[in-house]
Amino acid sequence: MKNKNLLIYLIVLLVLSFSIFIIKYINDTKNQYKVISENILFQQSSTLFNNIVTMRKWSSDHGAVYVKAHEGIEPNPYLENNHTYTKDSELLIKINPAWMTRQLSEMSNRTENYYFKITSLDPVNPVNAPDDFEKKALDDLAKNKDKTFYTSMEKDKYNLLGSLKIEPSCLECHVHQNYKVGEVRGGLRVSVPLDSYTQNIEILESKTNFLFTITILTSLVFIIIIVFTINSIYSREINITKLNKTLEKKVRIRTKELIDANKKLIEISTKDYLTNIPNRRHFFEIGTKSLHIAKRENNQLSVICIDIDFFKKINDTYGHNVGDEVLKLITKNMNKYIRKSDVLARIGGEEFAILLNNTNEENAFLLAEKIRIAIENLNYINNNKEIKTTISLGISQLTQEDYDLDSIIIRADKALYEAKNTGRNKSVIY
Ligand code: GH3
Ligand code: MG
Ligand code: MG
Repeated sequence: MKNKNLLIYLIVLLVLSFSIFIIKYINDTKNQYKVISENILFQQSSTLFNNIVTMRKWSSDHGAVYVKAHEGIEPNPYLENNHTYTKDSELLIKINPAWMTRQLSEMSNRTENYYFKITSLDPVNPVNAPDDFEKKALDDLAKNKDKTFYTSMEKDKYNLLGSLKIEPSCLECHVHQNYKVGEVRGGLRVSVPLDSYTQNIEILESKTNFLFTITILTSLVFIIIIVFTINSIYSREINITKLNKTLEKKVRIRTKELIDANKKLIEISTKDYLTNIPNRRHFFEIGTKSLHIAKRENNQLSVICIDIDFFKKINDTYGHNVGDEVLKLITKNMNKYIRKSDVLARIGGEEFAILLNNTNEENAFLLAEKIRIAIENLNYINNNKEIKTTISLGISQLTQEDYDLDSIIIRADKALYEAKNTGRNKSVIY
């Protein structure tokens, strides 16, 4: 779970970083385009500026030019010798650089989409008085002598103002102002419209905005897909783990059931159902093994065979169920005298056998007698009636000649037979 969240954070971080990089790249490109466009505007305006300056220089180099008077052209009122006559008395108007600039400016302002104007902080012609931009530009250029141009961008036009040096021809009008040739006293302002620039920038803005939106949306969709995929992979894994656990649990339960069933099976096959002690088959299994160990290790081993006396009578008198209860009670009491290393088994209906490891027949006899007396003294109360019973016991021990358990049991049985025949309720060694 922790790993999953970490993976999601990492991928989201990666996608966001990539998107930010793309957005920044687009934005940088947009700004570069704006700078390039502004450079183009500057190139355009400065070229116009230089053209006009060149024309003024041409005019200045030739002192001035004269044009025949015609409608729409007046002599420059600020120029002292502003006209002359031909020998045919035709009026010729003197066009000095300033007057030429004014004429061209009026013409271009009328017919072209660009605008220019001569201006000065101290104009002779009030029309040349500076507006806000021109005043700012002239002040700035006066302060920064190294600078050639001052530019600014208005809402609908790009403005450029360059300084103009005093030409000898300027002095004709400005002599009273103490102007000197080469001095900067004014400037030429050029303005170009921003229609196509604004249009281009608008297109650029809308295209970059579109790209921003696409980038953000793509990133979001990508993040959603990635998160969804990771989640489904993890939840599938969790389901598999859950399924595995359930399966493991089922296998554990089944295994336990099998072990229990096996135990039960072993119990059923080795224990007597009524008295819960080893049955005949199990007695012979353990006994045979014990016999071989005893023979190899040269140990002693004895068997006691036990039969209840006149048991048929108990059944006949009190019924089979009471007989069963008496059988259980006798077993319980015999068990009290048995060591952990010995085996007490029910080998027939009311017949028992005891296998005694490391025990000779004399000691087996002592134990047999203890058990016999204990049973003799046992009382079973049924319906306020006291049931008394006794047992007969036959004892035999392992000899060199014995190769199986049967031969010892046969001898013990013979001793038991002897006990029965000689009055019952006794122990007899073969
Ligand atoms: P004795 O051995 O002293 O000669 O007399 P007995 O009456 O015990 O003789 P016998 O061995 O012939 O009889 C054994 C009886 O034990 C016969 C049978 O009804 C009874 N019996 C055997 N198994 C069971 C059992 O599991 N439950 C009950 N209640 N009785 C059993
Ligand atoms: Mg019997
Ligand atoms: Mg009997």
